[in-house]
Amino acid sequence: MLLIKKVDDLLNIIGKKRKAGLSIGLIPTMGALHAGHISLLEAAKGSNSLTVCSIFVNPTQFNNQKDFENYPVTIEKDVYLLENAGCDILFFPSPDEIYPHTMQKPGLYELGFLETILEGRFRPGHFQGVCQVVHRLLEIIRPDNLYLGQKDYQQVLIIKKLLSLTGLNESVKLTICPTVREPDGLAMSSRNLRLSEEDRKKAAAIAQALYNIKKNLKNGNAELLIAEAKDFLAMQGFKTDYIEIADARTLEPVKNWDGSQKLIAVVAAALNDVRLIDNLLLN
Ligand code: AMP
Repeated sequence: MLLIKKVDDLLNIIGKKRKAGLSIGLIPTMGALHAGHISLLEAAKGSNSLTVCSIFVNPTQFNNQKDFENYPVTIEKDVYLLENAGCDILFFPSPDEIYPHTMQKPGLYELGFLETILEGRFRPGHFQGVCQVVHRLLEIIRPDNLYLGQKDYQQVLIIKKLLSLTGLNESVKLTICPTVREPDGLAMSSRNLRLSEEDRKKAAAIAQALYNIKKNLKNGNAELLIAEAKDFLAMQGFKTDYIEIADARTLEPVKNWDGSQKLIAVVAAALNDVRLIDNLLLN
């Protein structure tokens, strides 16, 4: 595996590979890698001759400075995991490489309604930052395929929108990979590393709340199930930002299910300042 820190070096190498006709798969990450990230790499290896994984803790997508400072960094382990999993290139840039002073500041991305709800509502500016960094990575690497996890479902819809806003949907195919979970159901996340031992045990309640909604959903009982899930999480000591049943295409909240609409349950809840998100397709 090549470890590359400079944009110019990456452009040089990727340019040669592209000339040689290699297809390129990109997996953007913020590091502190786990089996969820590696599943994206496995998917990329299956359909590309060159895999590029980026690790960059993007400051512009953190609305909370403390969250940024506390974001776990495990770069040595990450290199080991990627090397073992057969990644071709690890791109590990500094903020100056991604946002050089000479670069024109991008305008606002017109993300519309999607940016105003759920994560967008609780983390103002977050998705503008996500679009900034993903747009920049796509322009540098120009991959054929981009791999994202369903774990960050709203982010997937935002990136779809980014691809169509920028016209990059003509050249980049997006693949969404299923959420990888721990044996007790907790969705794997870099932030799980920040949970105390006791909170780690409680954290599985998030997935339990989602699976319970899925099991019991019938026409007309969505609001009741949401209220029960909120109580359940509160009893386990969670501070819930939101738990909702929404239209899986638009993420608009659904109060009365007509029995045919494709639905998703989405949740964000914190245990002692460690904020976790998860989701589950319901039908
Ligand atoms: P992050 O490093 O958290 O920004 O995540 C990088 C990519 O990995 C994103 O596309 C995430 O959705 C994806 N990802 C994170 N956790 C998981 C998981 N448990 N299963 C599948 N994909 C994941």
